[in-house]
Amino acid sequence: MDGTFSHDVAFEDLDEPPASTPTFLDRLFDQGLLVRTGVDGLYGRSGAFESVVDAVDRMISGIGAGDGAEVMRFPPGMSRAVFERSGYLKSFPNLAGTVHSFCGHEADHAGLLACLDAGEDWTGDQAATDIVLTPAACYPLYPLAAERGALPAEGRLFDLQSYCFRREPSLEPTRMQMFRMREYVRMGSPEQVLAFRESWLARGEAMIRDLRLPLAIDVANDPFFGRAGRMLANNQRAQGLKFELNVPVNSLDKPTACLSFNYHQDHFGTTWELRQADGAVAHTACVGFGMERITLALLRHHGLDLTAWPESVRARLWG
Ligand code: AMP
Ligand code: ZN
Repeated sequence: MDGTFSHDVAFEDLDEPPASTPTFLDRLFDQGLLVRTGVDGLYGRSGAFESVVDAVDRMISGIGAGDGAEVMRFPPGMSRAVFERSGYLKSFPNLAGTVHSFCGHEADHAGLLACLDAGEDWTGDQAATDIVLTPAACYPLYPLAAERGALPAEGRLFDLQSYCFRREPSLEPTRMQMFRMREYVRMGSPEQVLAFRESWLARGEAMIRDLRLPLAIDVANDPFFGRAGRMLANNQRAQGLKFELNVPVNSLDKPTACLSFNYHQDHFGTTWELRQADGAVAHTACVGFGMERITLALLRHHGLDLTAWPESVRARLWG
């Protein structure tokens, strides 16, 4: 965890190319690996791209296979009531996506169509529904776990994957507005959840090394909003609550977080009244894998032609 790219792998120069040469994103579009939608950070994926996502997903499952995690899959939308209570809006109001729907009557409908025809704002009769877009795969889980009552003595472990939404449009292909996050989530005593995080720090590093990608693990912070947010970010760093496994993808200067290792302390335990077997508030931690980011890191370092990837990498993914 010394913050240097310690893995000795040859790869092409990652410095930004001159303006005339296509960017990494352009090359992904040109090869058809990602498909333009007209919105920055919102892309289609080709079969080849998805074959890598699927292989990485299987690889993660293989690494965690002996742990007995309970598998759960949620749709990419979650309960607005749960979202409101989770505290997300305190920390990241700018990233949240809410689902709104037409709630007017027939006359309002005519007005909507007239606005649409005139190229004017037609959204006046759209109202918030009881669904918001999931910002991280683990958000829907905590209240459901709490509903089951106190944790057993050994705690609990869940395996999640979901499309997530964050309103952060960007031309960097690694910063998408809709992307998939695979997670393992541990609930239990501080010792149990910290041991989980330690083990995944080692497993995550070994996994990315197996894929022959350069990496560095660093302490990190979430992008908390506003001035109060800066204090939260500083605290998070000072207490070592979040680590990220970074791989240079877009540039060497600003490597991309492909895996995150988060210790929430008793934040979700308190919020959702989740208890340990002895009645103490439960602690939680999660490891999150950015499925598109890992795929993009592989494409950046091993090339856009999957058949030309190093044999050891192909064997690890598809062997
Ligand atoms: P976080 O909850 O921010 O720690 O995110 C968990 C993982 O999701 C990160 O380690 C990234 O790999 C991935 N991720 C976060 N934001 C994005 C994004 N905008 N686009 C693609 N992947 C992302
Ligand atoms: Zn999580």
